[in-house]
Amino acid sequence: MWGQKGFTLRFAVNAIVLISVIVTVAISAIIGYQSEKRSLTRTTFQMNQVYVNKISDTVNGLFGNMFDSLNVFGQYMAKDLKRADLHDRFDLFQRTHTNFNAVFIIDRDGTLLEGSNVLKKDVGTKIESVGSLQALKERRPLVSEPYTSKTTNKLIVMVSVPLYDDNGEYLGFIGGSIRLHETNIFQTILGNAPYQADGSYAYVMSMSGVLLYHPDATRIGENVTYSPIVDAIRVNKTGKLRFVNSKGINMLASYANIGSPGWGIASQTPNDTVLASARDLVKKLLLYMLPALLIFVAVIYWIVGKMASPFAKLAQFAAQLSPSNSGKDQLPKIHGWSNEANELHKAFGRAVRHFRYQFEHLSNEAQTDPLTGLYNRRTLDQFVKQYISQGMSFSILIMDLDNFKKVNDTYGHDRGDEVLRFLANALRDNLGEDCLICRFGGEEFVVLVPGDNAEVAMKDAERVRKFMMDTASPIGEKVTISIGVAYYPGMASTFEQLFRLADDALYQAKRYGRNRVVLAGANELEVKSS
Ligand code: GH3
Ligand code: MG
Ligand code: MG
Repeated sequence: MWGQKGFTLRFAVNAIVLISVIVTVAISAIIGYQSEKRSLTRTTFQMNQVYVNKISDTVNGLFGNMFDSLNVFGQYMAKDLKRADLHDRFDLFQRTHTNFNAVFIIDRDGTLLEGSNVLKKDVGTKIESVGSLQALKERRPLVSEPYTSKTTNKLIVMVSVPLYDDNGEYLGFIGGSIRLHETNIFQTILGNAPYQADGSYAYVMSMSGVLLYHPDATRIGENVTYSPIVDAIRVNKTGKLRFVNSKGINMLASYANIGSPGWGIASQTPNDTVLASARDLVKKLLLYMLPALLIFVAVIYWIVGKMASPFAKLAQFAAQLSPSNSGKDQLPKIHGWSNEANELHKAFGRAVRHFRYQFEHLSNEAQTDPLTGLYNRRTLDQFVKQYISQGMSFSILIMDLDNFKKVNDTYGHDRGDEVLRFLANALRDNLGEDCLICRFGGEEFVVLVPGDNAEVAMKDAERVRKFMMDTASPIGEKVTISIGVAYYPGMASTFEQLFRLADDALYQAKRYGRNRVVLAGANELEVKSS
């Protein structure tokens, strides 16, 4: 797939496609996640804001009503604090205003004059509670800071309205207490807002940072001044804030000031909820995209395969080209989808045809002698090596035209060449198929005749000699030949030795009159009579 050979086209293109798809999906996922996170964060802040604003308005309205009721009732009662049915009237008021756990009037000196749901023994005593002292001091409608009532030992806030006589003289105040740990107005309003499934919750606090309502009731009364929400409400009244809560959870909070009692309300959602939603959405997106992407990648894989296969086929074909099969294998057919592949196929075909022709031509030229068409000396060497390596037995005939110089001198070199061709044809015609005929050089020819003795070779040699002796050559005269014969491995263990023996025999043939065949090692008598 790689290394020295490099990547395959198919691998490379598919890898690029796959990487592109993965990168695209990753970028889409990141962008999708980020934008979803932003949008969900914005929505979460908005929803929390809407919620706290609504609660703030409701609580404001309720406290407005409480102030009004206390004011009307208080002013009326203050007219005659000695009336006989005073206590009954307080009871009636309190029963019809169930937001209050107790309702009472305290005079300007702090003495409890009368009230409902107050202890009898406390009537006529000085009440030095936080709420009472604050109301006496500020002399305005107010909701006290939360404090623990000395008489009931309950955590309460006190709603109070100052009382004046007809002359505008301050008389004291009428107050109503709300027990924070018991069913109260907050539970009524916020009680249906416990911890939400997504981890959201709302809580109310006084401006001094004491929790007045919290879905975890054990935290009511807890001082949370450390929370940045308290400062934020003090400064901005309303807004949003991202902060880490007391449990170390990153929160998206929206807050509002509840003007009438001077409190703050916050509603917050864990940031993880938003992130989880965004993650969920991206997961769904990827899940929906996956089949389409898989089909896309598969289609690309198939198309690339189609486009690359012509190149692969051509490469395979080229790799198989060799001297031995260059003529055999046909160029593979391709049905290329790309113009380049088709053009390459055509060019390849032309190139292969050209090289095949060249190769055949050149190899033929390299193997043969141009004048006679017989094998040349180099080819003879190759065959000799092959014969010997295969353990073949054979005879060698070395032949030389007799007095050829004279032919050349008399008839010219060209006619001499014709005589050489004539001899070549004579050899082809008179020797068996299994004989290897070669022009060794000049007017010398060598023939290899298979066989483990000289019998056949001598006969072949004699046949050729006779033919030459009996047949007129192109110059109109007969030109004879002399032949030396030796056989392998009977006479020699190497080709050099064999050649020398045959050459010596040829020499003997020349010496003893030419136009004869001499077997190596023959004695003088034999030579003469041959
Ligand atoms: P011998 O019987 O002793 O062989 O006498 P010869 O005249 O043939 O002597 P030799 O073999 O020494 O002479 C070879 C001659 O062959 C010399 C050269 O002119 C001639 N010859 C060699 N090659 C060619 C060739 O390619 N064409 C022609 N026309 N003549 C060639
Ligand atoms: Mg010669
Ligand atoms: Mg000669």
